[in-house]
Amino acid sequence: MIKIGISRKKTLKKNPSQLEIELERPKEKDRNHHLGGRSFYFFDFDDNVAYLTTPIVIFQKDSGIEKFLSSGDWAKHHLNIGKEGPYKDFFIDYDEEKGSFKYFRDKEFNIFQKITRKKQTFLEDIEKALLKEDLAWKAPSWNCFYHATYNQRPTSVITARGHNADTIKDGIQVMVEAGHLPRNPNYLSIYPVTNPNIRKDLGDNELNMSVADLKRSAIRQSVETAIEKYGYSPFHRFGMSDDDPKNVELITEEMKELKKVYPEMSFFVIQTFADKYVKTEITRKTNRLKRPTKSQENQQLNLI
Ligand SMILES: [Mg+2]
Repeated sequence: MIKIGISRKKTLKKNPSQLEIELERPKEKDRNHHLGGRSFYFFDFDDNVAYLTTPIVIFQKDSGIEKFLSSGDWAKHHLNIGKEGPYKDFFIDYDEEKGSFKYFRDKEFNIFQKITRKKQTFLEDIEKALLKEDLAWKAPSWNCFYHATYNQRPTSVITARGHNADTIKDGIQVMVEAGHLPRNPNYLSIYPVTNPNIRKDLGDNELNMSVADLKRSAIRQSVETAIEKYGYSPFHRFGMSDDDPKNVELITEEMKELKKVYPEMSFFVIQTFADKYVKTEITRKTNRLKRPTKSQENQQLNLI
């Protein structure tokens, strides 16, 4: 009772709508809990859990002048940058510190910045997002992320960002402090896959693997970590959600490989779109994709 009281006070102040959900919703056990299985949730972050305004920077060829692109514009145009279309006179710079993805990396702070508690851009971008209406920043998998956190499902964040893993945790902590999440997730693993150290952990010694391939490797490691930490069970269930079609394609390939190694376990890929999602199970007999029925598509929270 005391616990609910504290939570209520804190949440009411900042986010009353979330409170109602929390008080009304009973804790749910993992779907296969009675059989000894756990449900593991893997999330891409940007445009899947939350929409942030972190810009991607492209540079004008002649002048070097910067142009900021949203992640949506990037998804639409990046294959044509420098070649054709509105950004044919621009280029992508892969320099870690000054290049196109500099805002998706952590900065090394000097002493003055440390004393004044300068924040990494990921935290600033989350704070900026939380000032908006919920609908403006909560992405298609938000409710599922909330559900996984509320019920303390083992959770992995597998993102193209290149921050340190602790920065991702700190950013999510901001959401907890603002009352949007009831507590921190029960982290299984965090892979900001373009972080140079994480790249090496994932087997990318030449630092040239694509984001989709890095995510593939991160999924495999997360499944192995899950089995190490929670023990083997044929009733474990794994699901990964992502909004990027190329990532979804390679995630599906990796899930098929995992299904061959662990045929009794269940594997799901959830592709999210602005207003819907498509859940696909990798099936046991054929190792092919099983499309969901309409009623399964309507299960908003218990995705896996
Ligand atoms: Mg994404």
